[in-house]
Amino acid sequence: MSISTLLVSELEKTEDKKIGFIFCVCTGKCPGFSKMDMWDFINIIRVEYPVEYAFIHPMLCDEDGERFLAEFLKKDRKYMVAGCAPIMQKKLFKDSFANAGLDVNKDLIPIDIRNMTTQEAVAVVKKTLEETQK
Ligand code: SF4
Repeated sequence: MSISTLLVSELEKTEDKKIGFIFCVCTGKCPGFSKMDMWDFINIIRVEYPVEYAFIHPMLCDEDGERFLAEFLKKDRKYMVAGCAPIMQKKLFKDSFANAGLDVNKDLIPIDIRNMTTQEAVAVVKKTLEETQK
């Protein structure tokens, strides 16, 4: 196989990848998520929505969260993080994204789903995914 064929096939693999979805729950005890069922929410996203995977992390902005992101983030991928305010997420994850060769302004899709019911949060994810795929 020639180098150009290999490159094209790698590019296609990357382009095929859907967005990775992480729900950051502020330890799981944050009052901001008390109106929703967190497990129903993540299961609806992982089963019914076009994401590569979906899972819950307890606190991405703590030291272990940073270590997790250092191991987990991959170049040329996009990540939707549901949690706190987008402006806060961008500040908190800027270095981790940069260290992985990612641009926090392009490769992070931050959504704020605090103080929402499960269905309201699902609707925000649906709308954001639709806008992202336009
Ligand atoms: S990143 Fe945001 S949602 Fe996640 S633990 Fe930190 S403050 Fe909470």
